[in-house]
Amino acid sequence: MLLNDQVLFLTIGNFKLLTYFTKKRNMVIFVDMDDVIADTYGKHIEMYNEEFSKNLSLSDFKSGEVWQNVPEMHQDSIRRHARTDGFFRCLEPIKDSIAVLEQLCQKHEVYIATAATQFPNSLREKSDWLDQYFPFISWHYRIMCGYKFILKGDLLIDDRTLNLDEFDGNTLLFNSPHNVHENSHERVGSWLEIAEKLL
Ligand SMILES: [Mg+2]
Repeated sequence: MLLNDQVLFLTIGNFKLLTYFTKKRNMVIFVDMDDVIADTYGKHIEMYNEEFSKNLSLSDFKSGEVWQNVPEMHQDSIRRHARTDGFFRCLEPIKDSIAVLEQLCQKHEVYIATAATQFPNSLREKSDWLDQYFPFISWHYRIMCGYKFILKGDLLIDDRTLNLDEFDGNTLLFNSPHNVHENSHERVGSWLEIAEKLL
């Protein structure tokens, strides 16, 4: 019996029949955190502006990583951000991600799938951050991992083609300046767009 099957007892005369019926199987969806539901890119810009007294905004970044858009002498500083205590705890949620994900969870089987072993500080901070902004996604549905190649499901929403390329199911590439030149996956620019596709 499949996980999503349900058991039904039918009584016909003196006979009790055990039968199954299969529910319409909802999709298993994996959702990345950084730059999909958590604004990592914006936090890098904010920290860079504070550190070097600049006034850059997202519109100044047409392509590439944040560190690729600043003078070489400042690049190491940005690379250190992710190892700074509190970095992953202080991110802003991506616009509309909370409301749309809450609805998606009612319709589909949704897991957060996020790399959390590269930066030792990130695992606890990401967990606390999810508790604050996405309390409806319990720990059972949080996959904090290294490589995502191991994931098996129907859909992966991620901003990194590195992860999407290896996924067996459907993929959605979430817009970010660092992936503007990628064209190998269906692209979405907002959570409202995702809602239109999946709700
Ligand atoms: Mg990401």
